[in-house]
Amino acid sequence: MLNIVLFGPPGAGKGTQSERLIEKYGLVHLSTGDIFRANIKGETELGNLAKSYMDKGLLVPDEVTINMLRAEVLKHSACKGFIFDGFPRTQAQAAALDQLLIELGTSISVMLALEVEEEELKDRLLKRAAFSGRADDADPKIIENRIAVYNQETAPVKSFYMSQNKFISIDGLGTIDEITLRLNQAIDSL
Ligand code: AMP
Repeated sequence: MLNIVLFGPPGAGKGTQSERLIEKYGLVHLSTGDIFRANIKGETELGNLAKSYMDKGLLVPDEVTINMLRAEVLKHSACKGFIFDGFPRTQAQAAALDQLLIELGTSISVMLALEVEEEELKDRLLKRAAFSGRADDADPKIIENRIAVYNQETAPVKSFYMSQNKFISIDGLGTIDEITLRLNQAIDSL
């Protein structure tokens, strides 16, 4: 299996690039943010719980997120591989993902980390709000929170994959096509 963690701060382009990578490599795209939003739309219990955190720009608790991700992975255990988008966001999630993939007889192939500086992220998120309809994109205070949570809780997950020699940094500035090309080159060099 080819299992990719597509990593980066909010607004780095993970969703956009995931769509391109799943097509080229035939992978299953698992975006925890998308799954939470689908649950919010469906007014499920999980959706209600997730919303209370997402509206503030905070992380949904690990246990809830890990259980949900686990169920999604098990639905597709026979696929060619996964793109994990927006997961793992904590060290505990990274450890749980490793364990889950061991159960399936596989592992993470690589973490591709899109690097974009903060001012550019804020700009992109506010612009995205116009068409994403996401409340957490429209409010500069929530954006600040999401970036702060990323810096404090999520960025350290890089070291988890660095210590396994699976970390590749990708310049996330440029056109969508340029960034796709960088990602493709990194994957094809594995
Ligand atoms: P995203 O669509 O990846 O920007 O995620 C939107 C929001 O969903 C985040 O700000 C969190 O509140 C929540 N979320 C998504 N993925 C995770 C995760 N792996 N762990 C905890 N919360 C998450």
